[in-house]
Amino acid sequence: MSTETEIITKVGLPPSRTNLGDYDQQRRHFSWDAPPVRPRGLPGGGLNIAYEALDAHLSDGDRTALIWLGKSGEQTTLSYRELTELSARFASALTTIAAGRGSRVFSLLGRRPELYYAALGTLRAGAVFTPLFSAFGPEPIRARMEIGRANLLLTTEKLYRKRVASWWRQLPHMQGVILVDVDSTDEPGCHALSALLARGDPLCPCSRTQPEEMALLHFTSGTTGQPKGVVHVHQAVQMHMLSAHFALDLRPGEIYWCTADPGWVTGTSYGLIAPLCLGVSLVVDEAEFDAQRWYRILEELKVNIWYTAPTAIRLLMRTGAPPPGCNLSALRFMASVGEPLNPEAVVWGQRHFGRPFHDNWWQTETGAIMIANYAGEAVKPGSMGRPLPGIDAAILRRRDDGTLEEVSQDGKVGELALKAGWPSMFRGYLNQESRYRRCFEQQWYLSGDLASRDRDGYYWFVGRADDLIKSSGHLIGPFEVESALMEHPAVAEAAVIGKPDPVAGEMVKAFVLLNPGIEGDETLRRTLLGHARVRLGAVVAPKEIAFCRQLPRTRSGKIMRRLLKNRELGLPEGDTSTLEREER
Ligand code: ATP
Ligand code: MG
Repeated sequence: MSTETEIITKVGLPPSRTNLGDYDQQRRHFSWDAPPVRPRGLPGGGLNIAYEALDAHLSDGDRTALIWLGKSGEQTTLSYRELTELSARFASALTTIAAGRGSRVFSLLGRRPELYYAALGTLRAGAVFTPLFSAFGPEPIRARMEIGRANLLLTTEKLYRKRVASWWRQLPHMQGVILVDVDSTDEPGCHALSALLARGDPLCPCSRTQPEEMALLHFTSGTTGQPKGVVHVHQAVQMHMLSAHFALDLRPGEIYWCTADPGWVTGTSYGLIAPLCLGVSLVVDEAEFDAQRWYRILEELKVNIWYTAPTAIRLLMRTGAPPPGCNLSALRFMASVGEPLNPEAVVWGQRHFGRPFHDNWWQTETGAIMIANYAGEAVKPGSMGRPLPGIDAAILRRRDDGTLEEVSQDGKVGELALKAGWPSMFRGYLNQESRYRRCFEQQWYLSGDLASRDRDGYYWFVGRADDLIKSSGHLIGPFEVESALMEHPAVAEAAVIGKPDPVAGEMVKAFVLLNPGIEGDETLRRTLLGHARVRLGAVVAPKEIAFCRQLPRTRSGKIMRRLLKNRELGLPEGDTSTLEREER
């Protein structure tokens, strides 16, 4: 696969410039019976994600699997063999504390090495792994552990004391807590990880799980409401591998850095499983965002592939480009997920890194990337790209009789849907069977996102169905308005909502975060309103702009427009369990 990527703009280049050849070939020849990468399966039958991530590489077991960077500058490196042995010890230790196949193991940890081998050890034992954001307070932790019928929790001494110790014994299914950073503990029901590992078996084999056996339980980001518990099975690993091959272009032996928090699905699918399955060396940085540190990591570790999120890219854009002399020549592919990636950000990447950010789209429910600008493909800034080989996507609309039909017209907005049945498709919302069933209609999984498709088959995100603004009979997607505002040099970020209006039904209101050193005064407000009107036309442009110092975000970095709206209308805030407390 070529890594050269050409950038083309939405209106600009003639169709003949669009390099579709490689993509169309891949798609035409793709077959689920012979995908370019596939799991090996357990010798003797069965499928286990942990086997694909670790054991499958043991013929070259000295290769670096994990490069861990501690907050204060320490660095630990684990080979595939070492990681396999640690996870095997963990898996066997689980059985000594009456956990094992089918048990639910939750983690409440930041990016620590223990998290990685415990997660893989959990899967190895045939148990179900559920990561939580380590910044969650006691209530969100408890609620998720109750819904998920947690059996074990893995955490640190400090987090345990502050957020868990007082209530965990009241949960009927809980069997114990594993503390990762103590040598021993007298606390009833608690175990020291180091002691468990010491008596664990480094050769403990993989549990013979079946493809349809539950492997992961992930909670959604809670952007639009209460988070849902999403069930994934071992079979998902096929899609983790395939999507990382196409959408991230991961190649064995390369250095890959995923900045996602492990509490979010990206942190598991692409911050743990996919990269190891494809044999790369995975960089894990314990620290929080810091532009200078990030540039140093990219340079010093010679990162080849970097997967991050729009919110981080926008922060980098605010704080500044890589410093002069920063050698990023190893970096050959950059990708982004989680939120719409504004065209400005793609172009900024091209300008300062010599290559664009490749946007890709997926959800907790899809388990893996479904739509992407992938290597060798032309990137259209502002587009999410095209469905991966093996994935059938469509834009749907509802006919008057209530049935669904595909929208064939280029550029027409409808609901983004996927033909059900891809390997990492979620197998349920925990305890919400009817809600799960409502996501499927005819042959389609309905994503709840609105998008359009152009004549080259590229998909363009419009907004979540919940965030759509209806103004004077027009439907307005927030992304388009936000991107237009971001084109103005004063604007770092923008979030747009519909505010009730007696005449128009709703009018567009924008919340704008300015670049450092810029004062949000009346003149600037008028300039921005004028800029938006010129770019978008009077109907779509915001009528009101509020300058703010921060935007409410989920811990996975998504702007919570529903919260802005509720605050604007003076309504209760609703579920804020995933709200990032220090709103940036
Ligand atoms: P909840 O379902 O609880 O409201 P959530 O949908 O934000 O939360 P996730 O599954 O983490 O939870 O996020 C998936 C959503 O993120 C998608 O449905 C889409 O709205 C948004 N998203 C992800 N990637 C992209 C992208 N590349 N462009 C635009 N939106 C994206
Ligand atoms: Mg969602």
